[in-house]
Amino acid sequence: MQFVFHPDALLHRAPVFLVRGEQRPVPEKPERAEALAAMLEARGAALVRPDDHGPGPRAAVHNPDYLRYLETAHERWSKLPGASAAVIPNVHRPWRDASYPVGVVGQAGYHSYDTACPITAETWTSVCAAANSAVHASLLVARGETRAAYALCRPPGHHATRDMAGGFCYLNHVAIAAQAALPVLAAAGRPPRVAILDVDVHHGNGTQDIFYERDDVLFLSVHADPSEFYPFMAGYARERGNGRGEGYNVNLPLPMGSDEATVLAAIADSLGTVRRFAPEILFVSLGLDTYEHDPLAAFGVTTPGFARMGALLAGAGLPTVLVQEGGYAVDTLAANLGSFLDGFEDGLKKGSRGA
Ligand SMILES: [Zn+2]
Repeated sequence: MQFVFHPDALLHRAPVFLVRGEQRPVPEKPERAEALAAMLEARGAALVRPDDHGPGPRAAVHNPDYLRYLETAHERWSKLPGASAAVIPNVHRPWRDASYPVGVVGQAGYHSYDTACPITAETWTSVCAAANSAVHASLLVARGETRAAYALCRPPGHHATRDMAGGFCYLNHVAIAAQAALPVLAAAGRPPRVAILDVDVHHGNGTQDIFYERDDVLFLSVHADPSEFYPFMAGYARERGNGRGEGYNVNLPLPMGSDEATVLAAIADSLGTVRRFAPEILFVSLGLDTYEHDPLAAFGVTTPGFARMGALLAGAGLPTVLVQEGGYAVDTLAANLGSFLDGFEDGLKKGSRGA
């Protein structure tokens, strides 16, 4: 198994976001990734630094105007009189085909569906570093250089749509990674077909949006019922894909407060659907915010429970790319990932003995 991380992912530090009308510190902070990287090194994992895979993989998923905005917004915002240190929108796009504004204030609203994605001077560097880690991990697996890879990404990615930031997410790393694998598979004469299973406590609405009309990327998400939980406006079981993609989008919302057994059973159920689809690679949006004491918690997964989750996912017997998403209990985040990897790596060994 290989582990991929670029330290530039630590540079982005967003100041504040709004919770029930109050400004609060952003819990998605560099200390999360620092704790995870330190734990991986302590386990003896060599952290591979990703190559710069250039703008191509990002452009294969996100719209050009959105990428230009993310790259230039902070510099343009800084020139406005009285502007805050970070870009924070005060308007939002009111409908899908709204006119595209010229100025950065309007563009901030056009490209953000909430206020949880402030853009600082370092944001673009960090999100590109994280996306490069995800692409690197994906290519290692797609080329058959390793059976499994983990990309230590932050900020997370699964809430970012084709052209909007939201939920601490700017670039959709798992989508970029999955898309990057497809031509490599096709060139090797393998079916360009992959699955993404999102086990973060929040619905992966950005990933759903990106692949909603596609039948070559199966998307499944196990998450807390969005009727009273972020992202509120997506993640319902009735959202099943559109056009060619109909039936290739599977949401499994679970009641708030679901215990570990319920969460693991839903993941096992999803893996049955994954097996029937027979993807060449399984991508996992690995949020650790299903943890029982996560500050955003909705589910009751324990630290030992993450090992069972890891074993379940390895038991699918597929080449796998793990992409880090949420998880905000900074003090226990490393223990939870360590437990997940114990179960996952043990499951990989059992799988290779059986094969
Ligand atoms: Zn989350």
